[in-house]
Formats: sequence, C-alpha cells, structure tokens
Amino acid sequence: MEYSGSSTKEQSFVLMMNKTFLVIHIVFFFLFTSIGVDLMAGVNMISICFYFLGFNIAKCKKVNIYLYLVATEVLIHMVLAVISVGMECNFQLFLIDIMYYFFVLDYVIKRKKKKSYSAIILSCIYSITIILLYTFEDMIKPIYKLDPMVIRSLSIAVVSMVLFSIIITMLVLSNFLASTEGAMEKKAQFDALTDLPNRFYMMAQLKNLFETNSQVGYYLAIIDIDDFKKINDTYGHNVGDDALKILSRTIVEKARGTELKYCRWGGEEFLLLGKCVNGEIPKDYLDEIRLAINEKTIWTSLGSGKMTVTIGAGKYKVGQDYKEWISFADKQLYVGKCTGKNKVVC
Ligand code: GH3
Ligand code: MG
Ligand code: MG
Repeated sequence: MEYSGSSTKEQSFVLMMNKTFLVIHIVFFFLFTSIGVDLMAGVNMISICFYFLGFNIAKCKKVNIYLYLVATEVLIHMVLAVISVGMECNFQLFLIDIMYYFFVLDYVIKRKKKKSYSAIILSCIYSITIILLYTFEDMIKPIYKLDPMVIRSLSIAVVSMVLFSIIITMLVLSNFLASTEGAMEKKAQFDALTDLPNRFYMMAQLKNLFETNSQVGYYLAIIDIDDFKKINDTYGHNVGDDALKILSRTIVEKARGTELKYCRWGGEEFLLLGKCVNGEIPKDYLDEIRLAINEKTIWTSLGSGKMTVTIGAGKYKVGQDYKEWISFADKQLYVGKCTGKNKVVC
C-alpha cells in the first residue's frame, strides 16, 4: 500500500494514532519510573523514541510497514509489562484495545480501495497471546513485587485507559462514518456532468411530497432538448455535453429565488417540480425558461449554434401516483414533439 504525497484521511488518522501512542508511552514512562519498575521505564524510553521516529515513517509512503512495527511494539511492550508486574495489573487488556485500532484503520484504508495491512492476522496473533497469557497466568512470576495497593491502583488506571481509548476510537469511527456517509449521500444525489441534482434527488422530493400528502397544487414539467442527437452527430459529444451544461445553468438561473425543484432526469431530459400559481401551471414562466435556453449560444469548432427545447407539463391530478404523474407530463412532451417542438405543452 502506498500513500500519495497529499495529506489523506488515512494519514491523518495514522498521525493521530502516533500522537496518542506517544502520549501513552510518556505517561507509562513516568508511571513505571515512579513505582520503581526500571525495566519498563527503559522499554518505554525506547517506545517514546520509536513514536518520535513514527511521525516520519507515517508521513512517508511506508505506512503499512509502520503499522506492522506499531503492532510489534505494542505486543512486546504489553508482554514485558505482564512479565514485569503480573497479570493483575491488566496490561494485557491493551492488546484488546489495539485490535479496535487495527479494524478502524483497516476500514479507513479499504474504503479507499487500497490494499490494507492485515488487521485480521494481527488480531489473531494478539488474541492467541492474550489466551496464552491467561492459560499460563499461574506460571508468570512478576519480576517486580509491587505493593497490593499499587497493583490495585495500577489495575484501575489501566482499565480506565483501555475503556477511555475504546470510547475515543469508536467515537472517531462513528464521526468518520457519519461524515463520509453524508458526503457520499450528497454525491449520490448529484449529476457529475451538470452538477444538477439527479433522478435520486427528485425521487426523494416526490416521495416526501406524497408522504406528507401535499402533492395537490404542484406541477411536473419535463424539458427535453430538440434534436439533440443531431447536435451530437454534427458537432460531437463534447459539444453535446456543453449544451447540457448550458441548459442546466439556465435552469438554475431561472429557478433562483423560487421554490422550484429541478433535476437531470436522465440523458437530455430535465424534470421540474413546482407549485401551481392560482391553481394553474405557470405556462408563462415555463415559456421564459424555454426562451432563456434558446437565447444561449453554444460554441463549436464549426461556429456557434442555438438549441431549442420542448417542455411537457402536468398538474397533479387526485388519484395519480408519481409514476402516472410523470407519465402524463411525458405524454404532454410527446404532444409537443409531434406538433413542431420548441414549445410548452400543459
Ligand atoms: P427529440 O427532438 O425527439 O427529443 O430528438 P432527440 O434527438 O433529442 O432525442 P433522442 O432521444 O433520439 O436523442 C437523445 C440523445 O441524447 C441520444 C444520446 O446520445 C444523447 N445523450 C444522452 N445523454 C447524453 C450525454 O450525457 N451527453 C451527450 N453529449 N449526449 C447524450
Ligand atoms: Mg429525450
Ligand atoms: Mg430530445
């Protein structure tokens, strides 16, 4: 797995992890020094140096190697901590804690479709280590004999840190999921070519209208470019795309300051959802949109051109479902296409 030079979400997550682990080891260093566990104070000095170097490794393109090194460091540290002060101090629980990190990072990396380091293998190694430690608990004679009060305090401190760390990790994950899901949902409702809302957006609007039973007094209008195939065939697909963008911008301009909802329904068809005026479809307004589109110039290598559109509109009729409603507007469009195009049919 390689990271690009730009700062990615994965990288910031890894840097945050490095910072957290550095702080934890500084705390451990002072803790072990204060209770006279020199071996672990020394181990933590090495760990602190490792995490200082970690900032550089995490920043460069070797994040996978960095994560394996972190996994190894944590494993050695926690096993040595258990050997030094015994199982009662609960340092082995940090191994469970780290597994959460593995899987969160695994998710963050995988969603970018990058090859992730193997969280499952590392978690299996950690799990086996924990099981072995509990299996051979009786045989582990701590190197340092600590006062029972110190053991108890240390145990409570470790459990608190583990729980706190799990909560923070889950909080970061849930915020990350919420923000990426929100962004994805937004992206899924927009058309990439025209930047206009797409069919899914309009379906949601219609669903909402029907669910709140407020569809009476609304109209739907389908805008369809006339002879668009000819534009594509004569000037090429890129000019066709430009025409779609110009049309979209015109709809946005004309809808500004109104409650009109619009979307690219598909291909060269655009759907409008608006409120009737005095119970009627505002035909003049739709005509304004049609003329505004017609006024725009499409520049091509063969010179400039104009496009025309036909608009078919239908007021909501009681008893219709949204498919019947759209289908009626489509029929009106068809009437317009069959009777000369470049017009609004209500
Ligand atoms: P009509 O006046 O009856 O509407 O004729 P038309 O040529 O506009 O209608 P038709 O349905 O025959 O052609 C629609 C064309 O729209 C065909 C397709 O190639 C083109 N098209 C659909 N999506 C896109 C797109 O995203 N970009 C471009 N450039 N063309 C597209
Ligand atoms: Mg069409
Ligand atoms: Mg067309």
